[in-house]
Amino acid sequence: MADIEKILGKGSFTREDIISLLSVNGEERTLLFRRSAETKEKYIGKKLWFRGLIEFSNICSKDCLYCGIRKGNSNLLRYNLDDEEIITTARFAYDNSYGSVALQSGELESPIVTARIENLLHRIKDLSDGKLGITLSVGEQEPEVYRRWFEAGAHRYLLRIEATNESLYSKIHPDNSKHLFKRRLSCLKVLQDIGYQTGTGVMIGLPFQTLDDLAGDLLFFRDFNIDMCGMGPYIEHADTPLIKYAGELMPLQERFDLTLKMIAVLRIMMKDINIVAATALQAIDPIGREKAVMIGANIIMPNITPGQYRKNYKLYDNKPCTDDSAEDCQNCLEARVSLTDTEIVYGEWGDSKHYDRRRKGMDLG
Ligand code: SAH
Repeated sequence: MADIEKILGKGSFTREDIISLLSVNGEERTLLFRRSAETKEKYIGKKLWFRGLIEFSNICSKDCLYCGIRKGNSNLLRYNLDDEEIITTARFAYDNSYGSVALQSGELESPIVTARIENLLHRIKDLSDGKLGITLSVGEQEPEVYRRWFEAGAHRYLLRIEATNESLYSKIHPDNSKHLFKRRLSCLKVLQDIGYQTGTGVMIGLPFQTLDDLAGDLLFFRDFNIDMCGMGPYIEHADTPLIKYAGELMPLQERFDLTLKMIAVLRIMMKDINIVAATALQAIDPIGREKAVMIGANIIMPNITPGQYRKNYKLYDNKPCTDDSAEDCQNCLEARVSLTDTEIVYGEWGDSKHYDRRRKGMDLG
């Protein structure tokens, strides 16, 4: 216990410190979670912002070995919402004071995709008088494409690095030019340089992954100075190549617990960034996202994808909320969040405070 208290008292954690923190149990675990909850309260408040998540297409040109919507999976129906459906869904978010939407899809690069998303960004800005914040999460693109979308109104971008240890990265991706660690990394740098609030993250409990890898992930987030983070448990999907390692994984409950610890340590390390309570947490624990909010997350992405498409955006088995409508998700989340002593902030973007501070070159003090 003394050790953990000592580590928590430090201004900056080493790799060994982080490994110790990720290994805590019992009272030490309570102490870690208490410290991260206090940090969130002090720097962010007991608050939570929504990003209405529109999973607008599951068509993907990549073949990531863990992902259910990978190109090679022929066991699912591919869909692509039309522009009017996306606009209607964004209007739902605006009418319900969500503050922001997040547009996410499989990864495609083409002039048609670039122009389409640019046009959608303009339309979403127009329908909301510029008031709806927009996060994009549509994968690796050329710098010019990211620039055009930024100019069209997207101000946040989520691109999970998935694993920051390059050797682990190469074990969970095909070995070809479409899945280069270096490109993913350079995309993140470009996004940051253009001026996006830049978010990344990893999966937790992957085959071959060690606590040392996870400590490296957290150090990477700090050194890269990210503004936002989304980390969730890895959950196997029967129609993916990684399923062959299912027997070697840590139990789901342990993956869940380790994810909460990762969120807690990151909150203490990066006090004012936005941290998402990932949907995958809820695939393991019915109130998994709320638990993450209580210990340090401040963003939830309620799914507002039109109901009939949801079951086909199946990244992993048991993905929750696939039978619901957008209204169901809102009512359900409001009820759940009310149990956590947290205020849902409506009608605000809920930008990363870290981003402002980073841009102004300020210290937390
Ligand atoms: N490919 C897009 C986003 C769609 S997938 C992009 O990167 O821009 C969104 C996220 O789902 C991925 O970044 C990945 O971290 C997560 N994911 C995919 N398969 C998963 C699985 N089997 N278990 C848990 N999370 C998974």
